[in-house]
Amino acid sequence: MKISDANLKIIKDSRGKDTLEAELKADNLSAVASAPSGKSRGAHEAFVLEPQLAVKKFNETKLGILNREFNSQQEFDDFLNYLDGSKNKGNLGGNLTLVLSLAFARLKAKTENKELFQYIRQISQLSNSQVSQLPRPFFNVINGGAHATNPQSKLDFQEFQIIPKTQDFGIALGLGQEFYRKLNETLEEKFGKENVMLGDEAGFSCPFESNEQAIEILADLIVKSNYPLKIGLDVAATQFFHNADLRGSNAGKRGYYLIGEKEYSAEELKDFYIKLIEAYNIFSIEDPFFEESFDDFTKLTQSKPETLIIADDLTTTNPERLKRAIEKKSGNAILIKPNQIGTLTETINVIKLASENGWQFVVSHRSGETMDDFIANLAAGTGAFGIKAGAPSAPERMAKYNRLLRIGELGS
Ligand code: PEP
Ligand code: MG
Repeated sequence: MKISDANLKIIKDSRGKDTLEAELKADNLSAVASAPSGKSRGAHEAFVLEPQLAVKKFNETKLGILNREFNSQQEFDDFLNYLDGSKNKGNLGGNLTLVLSLAFARLKAKTENKELFQYIRQISQLSNSQVSQLPRPFFNVINGGAHATNPQSKLDFQEFQIIPKTQDFGIALGLGQEFYRKLNETLEEKFGKENVMLGDEAGFSCPFESNEQAIEILADLIVKSNYPLKIGLDVAATQFFHNADLRGSNAGKRGYYLIGEKEYSAEELKDFYIKLIEAYNIFSIEDPFFEESFDDFTKLTQSKPETLIIADDLTTTNPERLKRAIEKKSGNAILIKPNQIGTLTETINVIKLASENGWQFVVSHRSGETMDDFIANLAAGTGAFGIKAGAPSAPERMAKYNRLLRIGELGS
């Protein structure tokens, strides 16, 4: 395929921040893709180039991608990596390489007259049994940590999710939306209408006193409404980890986690998670420890092997980080965020590595999102265990869930 034209533009994401949108053209067809952006970013994620600079850089030469033959996704993505020449997209920016890579995938799918999820299925070549089911949605209904917007919120944990037990995506979406409305009513009754705000991922942000209080409210409502739902958490523990190299009165102290006013060692935090898992039948915990603490992840996974222990900031969709986590058994599932690594080919390679080693994978949005539904196609095309796209309400989140409904109708 030869790209005949390419344009890069700035659009706004769901937080009102500038982000990139690319349009590629070939054979009288065109395709568009845009980049999301994270707030609680892992230290090992691809570099993000400031969008205005990215446009300037791209417009100088269009990176030489016009009228050159690219026969496959891999060839195109390899070319982007060759141009970048760094380990972490330090020159082009992972946001620029991502929008080009994703727009290329959409365009190539169109030229081959395929749906995007079918194209992804074909290039990823995962075995059929894995790709026949739609992913389970992990709906983030309460937003804490870096994603809270209510100044009175005391939630250190970032995401409080509900996960429908059904494998039917349509039923799961309906359940998620009904529960979300009931939760809204419950929170308005408890905190007053004026204190119920929406966080970055459209989950609720209220003056919660503690993480346990938020979990308790979810657990109570699940029992009361009799919905088949489980609870999941993205703790995003790096956000409240205090490093060992503090000065002053804390000099010499080992790293610790600050939850509310209380300090926890990694061991104490592990015991706290075990209590929560047992008390509330918690289904999954993402990033339970600091992003370099491979061994603490291992200990929790060993203690609770039936719980999904998901690595996000720990692994950052990076093959080297994932290899280390697999060797150390630092979890049993990985979060897949294409913009953490910067191209579709590299994203798929990480998915394959996880899958070949018996790890589950959950495809994820970012807290700053656009209307792009690429990740829904990625999750369906690779047979992901789950998808994380926020609360089932805001349009940029619903774009992903509705695309999955459509994929379900289209069949394979
Ligand atoms: C996450 O941590 O899983 C997440 C989606 O947040 P962000 O995009 O802010 O990194
Ligand atoms: Mg996370």
